[in-house]
Amino acid sequence: MNPVVYSINDQDRICGANAAWSEFAIYNGGEAVLPHHVMFRPLWDFIGSEEVRTVYRRLISRARAGLEVRFTFRCDSSDYRRLFEMVIARKQEQVEFCSTLLAQEKRAPIPLFDTARERSDQILRVCGWCHAVAGPDGDWLELETAVQRLKLLELPVLPRISHGICEPCAAKFLSNIPWQCTGTPAGSR
Ligand SMILES: [Zn+2]
Repeated sequence: MNPVVYSINDQDRICGANAAWSEFAIYNGGEAVLPHHVMFRPLWDFIGSEEVRTVYRRLISRARAGLEVRFTFRCDSSDYRRLFEMVIARKQEQVEFCSTLLAQEKRAPIPLFDTARERSDQILRVCGWCHAVAGPDGDWLELETAVQRLKLLELPVLPRISHGICEPCAAKFLSNIPWQCTGTPAGSR
């Protein structure tokens, strides 16, 4: 799989997406996010959760300051665990987001991320970075553990997924420790 790349302009509007974006959108049943539907729309239209927006604002402002932002995240399909690396970097007036598949591993299908499946009104919060699932007691469970513990495969209709961010990921992204910055501030060389 080629890296999936998209960019936003200085108004935070999507202004470019590569061919891999389209392939990835189609493969994941996301016709609604094909480039001709998303072009020049604000990035924020596609991020439902306020806490996730806060993290993205922080990461984008780091990138605009000339710091490269690099982190890994989970983006599973129904039958693959997949680990991606995201690099957010300033390119002239734009900010580019590049996701590269680092590893994937076939596992027993978990239809939670199958967009073709019917959904109930029940909401399941999933961390958009590590795929941890919020349990009934407010604790965050690793995806495969959650599937067993919450008996997700036994439900007649799957719950809706709401992407948020778990506390450990939020702490990592919102702390000011520079682990995610591998670039050098602009003008320092
Ligand atoms: Zn997380």
